[in-house]
Amino acid sequence: MSSHRHPPGSFEPPRQAREVSDGIYAYIQPDGSWWINNTGFLVGRRGVISVDACATQRRTQAYLDTIATVTDQPVRTLVNTHHHGDHTFGNYLFPTATIVGYEGIREGIAAWGAPRDLPLWTPVDWGDIELEPPFLTFTETIKLYVDDLETQVQYIGTPAHTTNDSVLWVPDRRVLFSGDVIFNGGTPFLVQGSVSGMLVALARIRELNPEVIVPGHGPVTDPAIVERLEGYVRFVQDVAARGRAAGLTPLETAREVDLGEYADLLDSERIVGNLHRAYAELDGLPPGGPINLQAAIADMIAFNGGQPLSCYA
Ligand SMILES: [Zn+2]
Repeated sequence: MSSHRHPPGSFEPPRQAREVSDGIYAYIQPDGSWWINNTGFLVGRRGVISVDACATQRRTQAYLDTIATVTDQPVRTLVNTHHHGDHTFGNYLFPTATIVGYEGIREGIAAWGAPRDLPLWTPVDWGDIELEPPFLTFTETIKLYVDDLETQVQYIGTPAHTTNDSVLWVPDRRVLFSGDVIFNGGTPFLVQGSVSGMLVALARIRELNPEVIVPGHGPVTDPAIVERLEGYVRFVQDVAARGRAAGLTPLETAREVDLGEYADLLDSERIVGNLHRAYAELDGLPPGGPINLQAAIADMIAFNGGQPLSCYA
């Protein structure tokens, strides 16, 4: 289940970033499990663009301190890749930044609300978070420039990980900040988005033809990840179709299935939530349509032996 795959102890926020292309940095937080996201930043002569914030006050401050080891320029633009709190709760610690995001992110942030301990996860020290959603929004794409370097923030075009996913693409460098459309080493999480839509989103990423991908969780990777994730998504669809045909609930199906090559991905209990979404799509629910989230969450806990899922944020 979830916890035994993690080494014992907690995961401290890193104090350094990795330069993946000239002036473009990935900030990778181990181990990439629940609520431990990646961010990144692009450094210009007179300002910085940040891609996402972190989940807690402590982690976002450590990230800001890391930016300050690279440049003394202020963060003038903060891009959110989607509404999830691990990418947006720290937004309020960027007082000099215009916060940019796909229009639907605002609704997602408002719907989830302020950070709080929930039965799904082990408790977290969130800090004094104030919700600060994007206040410059777009519906398809927006260009941001780092000096003369063009970047594009693109809505992925379909519900996938959520209903409001976007990526930051740097065409001249073939660097992609994918948000949570790509997990590297963690189980994809499709409960709040779409299983079939994720395949569309991954195809779109393949079309971009990136060389370097900074995923939303897990180590920096390359385009080979796309095929691996497509394999997982199709696996979920197949398992759902067989389970539904056999008259099993998503939880019963999850308990019976051999995760095979996906068993080593972190947070494997997400299979249950993903099956809830896949079942709903087999029943005709359009991508991103509403499902019973509480039931999906309760089943993930049940799959985890009744224990809250491990959260090291
Ligand atoms: Zn997310």
